[in-house]
Amino acid sequence: MGKNKYNAVMNPKPTTIVIECFDLRFRKAFRHFTREELGVKTEDFIKIERAGGAAALAHPIKQEGARLDTLNQISFAVQHFPSIERVIVIGHQNCGFYTRIPNHPDAEDPEKKDLPKVAKAIREMFGNLKVECHYAYFTDGSRTQISFEQIV
Ligand SMILES: [Zn+2]
Repeated sequence: MGKNKYNAVMNPKPTTIVIECFDLRFRKAFRHFTREELGVKTEDFIKIERAGGAAALAHPIKQEGARLDTLNQISFAVQHFPSIERVIVIGHQNCGFYTRIPNHPDAEDPEKKDLPKVAKAIREMFGNLKVECHYAYFTDGSRTQISFEQIV
């Protein structure tokens, strides 16, 4: 002890951006899923954590500010790390972000139904990136078990 300096070592060539919501109920599951199931090593990804994940990309009018913020965050990552080639978007059931989008056309599972629109928006702007979207949902009544389904 006695040291008050800490040095962190960063991977200068991350390959992947993970965009997810910061909902505390899902965080651990997101982390496990990304590493264990998708096989992305911790040092290889950059995480963008936002309310709703990338959901704002599906709502250009009602969520224009958040949409632009999200695109700017992706742009920033891609400009600084040209090694990035993959984007993983994770949406989830019962996302609080959706309370900000009144009259969503899909009353049931809007988070899931928005994912193809999110993928399309990212591909339109960043054509060279591989985009995939996954949906996380509770599989038991007490909401302790979470499953993932690839949508795009
Ligand atoms: Zn959420």
